[in-house]
Amino acid sequence: HADIAMYSAKKLGRNNFQFYTPAMNEESLERVRIESALRNALERNEFVLHYQPQLDLTSGQIVGMEALLRWQHPELGMVPPGRFIGIAEETGLIVQIGAWVLRTACAQNKAWQDAGLGRLRVAVNLSARQFGAADLIASLESVLADTRLDPECLEIELTESLFMSDVTPAVDLLHRMKSLGVNLSIDDFGTGYSSLSYLSRFPIDVLKIDRSFVADITHDANDAAIVTSIIALAHNLKLAVIAEGVETLEQLDYLRSHGCDEMQGYYFSKPLPAAEFEQLLVQRRALPPRQVADGGASG
Ligand code: C2E
Ligand code: MG
Ligand code: MG
Ligand code: MG
Repeated sequence: HADIAMYSAKKLGRNNFQFYTPAMNEESLERVRIESALRNALERNEFVLHYQPQLDLTSGQIVGMEALLRWQHPELGMVPPGRFIGIAEETGLIVQIGAWVLRTACAQNKAWQDAGLGRLRVAVNLSARQFGAADLIASLESVLADTRLDPECLEIELTESLFMSDVTPAVDLLHRMKSLGVNLSIDDFGTGYSSLSYLSRFPIDVLKIDRSFVADITHDANDAAIVTSIIALAHNLKLAVIAEGVETLEQLDYLRSHGCDEMQGYYFSKPLPAAEFEQLLVQRRALPPRQVADGGASG
């Protein structure tokens, strides 16, 4: 195995060594490349936000959007979040990047509202590292003041894993966020293996059902049971519930008939650049009415 590289793996401690295959080595090289490029990405204006519509399942109308970060690097190309968010979190760069996301998303939503495109809500993903930052509340306050966005139109998405980590935010911090008037949602709900007790201790408004449960709701009885249980749990706790990753009309109909409040997914639209999202709003595109389950719907 002449081509096997060996080096000390920091995470395992100073005296631990691990064997890396050439493929893994390439992976760690790419990581280093991404990490250094990430340090300059903000000042070089390489980030953009895409927006994915969120629709009310009763009215069929677009009621909000999730802002999703995209990184367009001149050499690396479009780097998906899965390849850089983790690195941004580990290096702490996510704090600055996240502040840019928040400001940009709020300003964009306010601009659409001012253009008469509707009173929409914008959801922004916050990472655990941002909760550790001392100025989170101050930065939220200044973004809301500067953009003049109604705080009720801002939703902050937290992941369930936040509540089982060693950086679980103080109940008090979330209450202070709530007192600004913003909404709080739990992203990827159901995947965190956490105790449900945080749902009663923290001022949560919305559960987002993870798309891994939605994928097979029409074929897998267990996934269907999980989804209907999450909807019931949310409603019993007086929370709203939104399903992520809705890709088919069958999934849409299932969620509608089981009382889910909202949906987000490729069935209606992928995350879009701002200009394309705006077209959806201008055209007032909406979900097809409920009766078309047996096909025939188009456009
Ligand atoms: P997320 O917050 O759960 O976002 C939803 C992800 O599901 C997005 O992936 C979206 O494109 C994808 N998605 C939506 N509908 C469908 C569908 O019907 N089918 C399938 N297969 N996928 C669908 P994306 O944009 O690649 O983002 C991945 C993750 O990266 C996000 O998951 C979020 O955890 C993280 N992320 C993205 N933007 C930000 C950000 O600004 N800050 C932080 N901290 N994390 C972010
Ligand atoms: Mg999210
Ligand atoms: Mg999500
Ligand atoms: Mg999610």
